Amino acid sequence: MNLIIFGPPGSGKGTYSQRIAPKLGIVKISTGDIYREIVKNDKTSFGKMIADILSRGELVPDDITNKILEERISQPDAKKGFILDGYPRTLNQAKFLEGTTKIDAIINIIAPEEILIEKISARRVCSNPKCDGNYNIADINRTIDGVEYLLPPLLPKKDMICDKCGSKLYQRNDDTPEVIKERLKIYEKQTSPVIEYYKKTNIPFVNVHMNRPPNEIVEKILEELKKLNLIKHAS
Ligand code: AMP
Repeated sequence: MNLIIFGPPGSGKGTYSQRIAPKLGIVKISTGDIYREIVKNDKTSFGKMIADILSRGELVPDDITNKILEERISQPDAKKGFILDGYPRTLNQAKFLEGTTKIDAIINIIAPEEILIEKISARRVCSNPKCDGNYNIADINRTIDGVEYLLPPLLPKKDMICDKCGSKLYQRNDDTPEVIKERLKIYEKQTSPVIEYYKKTNIPFVNVHMNRPPNEIVEKILEELKKLNLIKHAS
């Protein structure tokens, strides 16, 4: 089964796809992760060019991205299927993908800007570079446009101390409302033409509200795939 997941920054799409992939026996493919690996390991002029593009927050040219994606999905581990996270980001990429492989469904994670801003501003991460401790102090319980958002906090046991390694927690300096608003604007501008394009195709397109903790969203996505007869059991 081949899937695409869309979702704004802070919607948790990376987490959901990481959890869904093993349940479906498919692989998660994130072009962002691939590029970060290239920046880390490729010290040639190509690696440096990619590093420059990423540091400016720009998109890597389509011809490079399409080739990288094509190579990745032809690997043996992707034969049973994949979930694409961060690709396609342009119409050119969407059209290239259409000519390369079949997509069975698109999952579009949606959330109001105020919820995303509140949730991202409440992120607290571990200061130990070797630890991936990640917490959230926002406690959201309200209804917006008829959708109930029930997103409890994920607190450390001791205030501002990581449960995993005991190091101090801090707030990333890009997790501020101003920076988040800018990231959401860029996401909207980049992704809306691609989403509009997919809405006009026959590929099943499902909207999933980010209104519950990740384990429940994962179940909701699996339910949607079940409704589409893409899987037999929901978990
Ligand atoms: P992400 O983690 O998905 O936000 O990706 C990090 C960076 O990798 C982006 O800011 C782009 O520079 C690059 N990148 C990731 N996916 C793509 C894509 N589909 N097309 C072009 N550039 C991409």
